[in-house]
Amino acid sequence: MQWISERTVFGTPYDTPVVGYDNNTVNKLRLWSAKASDEFNFQIFDAGDYSRAVADKTFSENISKVLYPHDNTPQGQELRLQQEYFFVSCSLQDIIRLYLRNHDNFDCFPEKVAIQLNDTHPSIGVAELMRLLVDEHQLDWNQAWQITQNTFAYTNHTLLTEALERWSVSLFGRLLPRHLEIIYEINHHFLDDVRAKYPNDQALLERLSLIEEGAEKYVRMAHLACVGSHAVNGVAALHTQLLQQKVMRDFYQLWPNKFNNKTNGVTPRRWLLLSNPQLALLITQKIGNNWIKQLEDLNQLEAFVEDAEFCSKWRWIKQQNKQKLTNYIQRHNGIAVNPDSLFDIQVKRIHEYKRQLLNVLYVITLYNRIKTNPNINILPRTCIFGGKAAPGYFMAKLIVKLINSVADVVNNDSDVCDRLKVVFLGNYSVSLGHLAYPAADLSEQISTAGKEASGTGNMKFAMNGALTIGTLDGANVEIREEVGSENFFLFGLTAQEVAALKSKGYNPWDYYNTNAELRQVIDRIDSGYFCPGQPELFKPIVESLLHKDEYLHLADYQSYVDCQEQVAKAYQDQENWTRMSILNAARMGKFSSDRTIQEYCQKIWQAEAVKIDLQAYRQEAAGLKR
Ligand SMILES: *Cc1c(COP(=O)(O)O)cnc(C)c1O
Repeated sequence: MQWISERTVFGTPYDTPVVGYDNNTVNKLRLWSAKASDEFNFQIFDAGDYSRAVADKTFSENISKVLYPHDNTPQGQELRLQQEYFFVSCSLQDIIRLYLRNHDNFDCFPEKVAIQLNDTHPSIGVAELMRLLVDEHQLDWNQAWQITQNTFAYTNHTLLTEALERWSVSLFGRLLPRHLEIIYEINHHFLDDVRAKYPNDQALLERLSLIEEGAEKYVRMAHLACVGSHAVNGVAALHTQLLQQKVMRDFYQLWPNKFNNKTNGVTPRRWLLLSNPQLALLITQKIGNNWIKQLEDLNQLEAFVEDAEFCSKWRWIKQQNKQKLTNYIQRHNGIAVNPDSLFDIQVKRIHEYKRQLLNVLYVITLYNRIKTNPNINILPRTCIFGGKAAPGYFMAKLIVKLINSVADVVNNDSDVCDRLKVVFLGNYSVSLGHLAYPAADLSEQISTAGKEASGTGNMKFAMNGALTIGTLDGANVEIREEVGSENFFLFGLTAQEVAALKSKGYNPWDYYNTNAELRQVIDRIDSGYFCPGQPELFKPIVESLLHKDEYLHLADYQSYVDCQEQVAKAYQDQENWTRMSILNAARMGKFSSDRTIQEYCQKIWQAEAVKIDLQAYRQEAAGLKR
């Protein structure tokens, strides 16, 4: 069988060197750009259809033009599938080309090549490798399938079921007919095996199938990724557990040994050494510089929590970092914030499950308290938000608008004085992250339990000495285990309690009707107070909270408010706060991406570390020259 495609698009490789830290290694990141094949254009051009020749070139080259910006909700668009196929095919053909330079058969392909599917987006790769091996390299099906399964592994990144990629069979078959055939064939073999193991369970077959049946049929890409891989992992302990018990439960029962956890990490080179040079220097002065490559060494800082001079330097550096962010906010937002106030920061993509709205409800609670009692003595707080909203995500855009509108009112109300400021950092990015994480006193990690796979912002904050206010979600669970429950501000329902409340029937009105302070907050948004020119503007937010509240903002509101009171109280004792801050950073060793990558190497890729001896390389190069 050979698939003769309708169109040829060339992939041009662009290599970016990825320089290692003090390990004599430069890896290459190879990305692809789509170029129209001139041959095809000339054919049309010669036939006299000039505009079609140009249109065709544009069409081909559009494949690598735009990155779909949707956050955790796939859009089933044709261009997206073309894109996924294009990138995957370029990489696979390149991998095979390089492998065949040193081998004349595919026997050791899985030993030499590991392909990690980073979410479902590249999972078409399973079908593409089968096509290349069977159709282009004439391997028999079973041998090709062995190789494919032993080469691929799959990392799941989300528990939101609406985020699992599916393609309608009709679109898929129109674009990639041969791949659809291959997927049907994979499914046929797979379901035969399931049937042999669990006879007479039609419902199970339907749940496991790579094809979702119905009026419109769909290819389930997460199922393809799972069936085509020898390992499947989640990115935090709780996430992997929920993956096994809920989202991929049937697969877990079938293949319990395929599943494993790889808790995410972040690189201390970027998220401490580069972004917080003063703190990095202080740490190095105390414990040497081994921590940069061996983050567990940070635990040696614990010996200094009672060292008054060290503590005051630690506090002074946090103050400097807050001053830098204060200057940035003055320049970019024109808002004068008080660097002595508590910096309460939530920076991450805007999404309902991340519950920026819960944070806003608390901000308005504080505002209402000040308005009711202008002489109230409260801890001065600067509430900082940052994050992008996907262009087509109406609710996320409206949340950004609400934050900005609340900021306008609060920051310009003379009753408030210096006690509360609200800031929205526009165009949040990694560079802004370098400013934000080191400047935080308080890290907001307040997603509905069971929704955040891991989070990595939570790790960056804690590594820089911020304390966390958070739910038992994603990696927060493990961060709290590491830093100690007494150094973490926990609130909210657990994932189990969320599920129980939902199954018994959650009604947000129960909370609205019985909690006066919450009611005042929602009524204030509803009244148009924050948008007098357009009083209806935030109705969709109020409606969403009162009629569905899918992410249980109202259920967790009181627990969050109470916990924030604990935070404010703790912050009054600066010495103890600093102690907790040091302990947070000192206990973050586990969350280095070095540990994560080592686990992938040992448990999934069977890749061993190689020491690069530059001296030997130089001698070899000199020998070659001679
Ligand atoms: C770390 C990081 C994120 C992820 O943040 P979460 O809090 O884990 O959602 C998002 N955007 C940028 C720019 C980051 O640096």
